[in-house]
Amino acid sequence: ASGYHQAIKENRNLYNILQELKGNIRVFCRIRPIFNSQESCIEYIGNDGSLMVFDPYRPHNTRKVFQFNKVFGPQTTQCEVYNETQALIRSVMDGYNVCIFAYGQTGAGKTYTMCGTSTGLCEETGINHMALNDLFHISSVREDITYEIYVQMVEIYNEIVRDLLCQDATNSKYPFEFHPKNALGFGGLSIPNATMQSVQSSADVLNLMRLGEKNRAFSSTAMNHRSSRSHSVLTVHVHGKDMSGNTTTSCLHLVDLAGSERVDKSEATGDTLKEAQFINKSLSCLGDVIMALAQKNSHIPYRNSKLTQLLQNSLGGNAKMLMLAHVSPEADSYGETISTLKFAQRTSTVELGTPRQNKESSEIQELKDQIDNLKKALATKE
Ligand code: ADP
Ligand code: MG
Repeated sequence: ASGYHQAIKENRNLYNILQELKGNIRVFCRIRPIFNSQESCIEYIGNDGSLMVFDPYRPHNTRKVFQFNKVFGPQTTQCEVYNETQALIRSVMDGYNVCIFAYGQTGAGKTYTMCGTSTGLCEETGINHMALNDLFHISSVREDITYEIYVQMVEIYNEIVRDLLCQDATNSKYPFEFHPKNALGFGGLSIPNATMQSVQSSADVLNLMRLGEKNRAFSSTAMNHRSSRSHSVLTVHVHGKDMSGNTTTSCLHLVDLAGSERVDKSEATGDTLKEAQFINKSLSCLGDVIMALAQKNSHIPYRNSKLTQLLQNSLGGNAKMLMLAHVSPEADSYGETISTLKFAQRTSTVELGTPRQNKESSEIQELKDQIDNLKKALATKE
């Protein structure tokens, strides 16, 4: 691939500049194994995070080269993907807000990466479960810090947020509002009226995930292919306290996004059209937020969609973010593959600030408590 080397040289300069600018945003690309022995539109995967794509139906057209922090080829196992994300996930325990999201067209492997398959074999466990296992492991070995871990799981469908951890799945329309701080006083936006479950072990988590998946499945039989049309967000809240009373609060969002494919407008009518517009709304708002961050705009349009509102604290300057861009390698998917790679490449140009630990010293905590008490005292006098 001689054109490859030329293209990569040009791209490399740009990439190096971006790397220098870049703070804490990472973009990985994962290519799933090819189905039904079609020809592949992925021509080359470098071990330096680059890949080259071509259109098998127009083989003489120019090759396109993309550069990411990492590219996982079709042979990559779930454990290998997890190994590359582990450090990021672990930093949640040190008080950093982290957001990981799976992006890409339907069928490209987003749910496979995040949730795995239900066979339960080691290689097939998804990032969600491996991450929580890891967090519990850290919490058990760090004797100097006491951790509390809470989990929420919601689905955003047609700009309506549903609680996936409620026992009654038929209670589909969930009254919902965002609070800057939830009832537990944790940092990060949360959904005060969605179930917040305290978890003590990875077995607890597994049970909750099963409930969440069951609730999600319930809605997909009620409405066709709903799961590919909705975003699901698993949020892990971590609250740490050391011997001298210093605290950290942080959250980890693990997001399985709706399919990024464009729905052909001529085919979409009624509900399908409404659906398509809403998915586009949330995903394009995510794109807008990312672009606004990249351009360092003073106004970041978080409030334009439920998804960006929910992820606000983890998409800003002081959080760490990882995009896992998924692509299908089949020739037929060439168009969608290009648009996914372009979106991901744009994302990788975002420069985030230095991540900040959400840490509070015991002195500040005491002062805050005093203020709260004074406020209460005042309230009772009035
Ligand atoms: P998405 O969530 O993006 O719509 P899925 O995760 O449901 O896509 O993947 C589509 C199909 O491809 C599923 O049957 C899944 O098991 C399979 N699959 C996806 N990625 C991989 C992979 N890396 N290795 C093996 N099978 C995969
Ligand atoms: Mg899926």
